[in-house]
Amino acid sequence: AVRLTGLRRHYGNLRALDGVDLAFPAGSFTAVMGPSGSGKSTLLQCAAGLDRPTAGRVEVGGVALEGLSERRLTLLRRDRIGFVFQSFNLLPSLTAAQNVALPLRLAGRQPSRAEVRGALERVGLGARAGHRPGELSGGQQQRVALARALITRPAVLFGDEPTGALDTATSRDVLAMLRELVDRDGQTIVMVTHDPVAASYADRVVFLVDGRVHGELTSPTAQEVATRMARLETAPEAA
Ligand code: ATP
Ligand code: MG
Repeated sequence: AVRLTGLRRHYGNLRALDGVDLAFPAGSFTAVMGPSGSGKSTLLQCAAGLDRPTAGRVEVGGVALEGLSERRLTLLRRDRIGFVFQSFNLLPSLTAAQNVALPLRLAGRQPSRAEVRGALERVGLGARAGHRPGELSGGQQQRVALARALITRPAVLFGDEPTGALDTATSRDVLAMLRELVDRDGQTIVMVTHDPVAASYADRVVFLVDGRVHGELTSPTAQEVATRMARLETAPEAA
């Protein structure tokens, strides 16, 4: 589980996060939406320990990040937090298996073939272990990135627009995969998205406006999400 309390991130006079209180319970799938510049990426970066908030608390799996040294924070990030990005960020010269093994190798461990294979199988890519990213489709590359993010069995998986670079059909495949990780493995997921259909795969959709939480919807349809987003973008006070 992840808990954010009174979270603020200021850049000079700009309040990218202006006091956010949110909890992401273990085994839940949350989508974060909001207009461009509303603070979604900043929220994920702070929650994942990639950025230090100006004020407030972040707790991941019961550990408060603000008290940690840089070294301990790096270790916690590596072992307890998974992150996937719109651009996959795979190393092009390494095979899928080598990319997936990377976090464990960086931790000084030589992962077994079975371990790497298992991680790829969990995302339905057992047959592609020897392929390089350039030999995989966009959806397959994002699955490799997912397997890599999940190999340490993190307490939480963050995704910043993980389907943003994919076409509609491929995007649905990856979303179904994320849903399966939650339903089958109890994975906690927090995903930023602009796509109402993507958000409808989550248990809950949280809306951010100007660095503050502006309501949420539980198990909404894509249509309900789209309607709320349209209102937020035109007249946030009324939404
Ligand atoms: P988008 O949907 O376009 O990705 P976002 O909701 O993810 O937007 P953020 O990237 O979190 O928005 O940015 C929130 C605000 O903070 C924006 O006004 C942005 O310009 C500002 N901001 C983000 N990073 C920095 C930085 N390093 N320095 C100064 N301002 C920043
Ligand atoms: Mg962003």
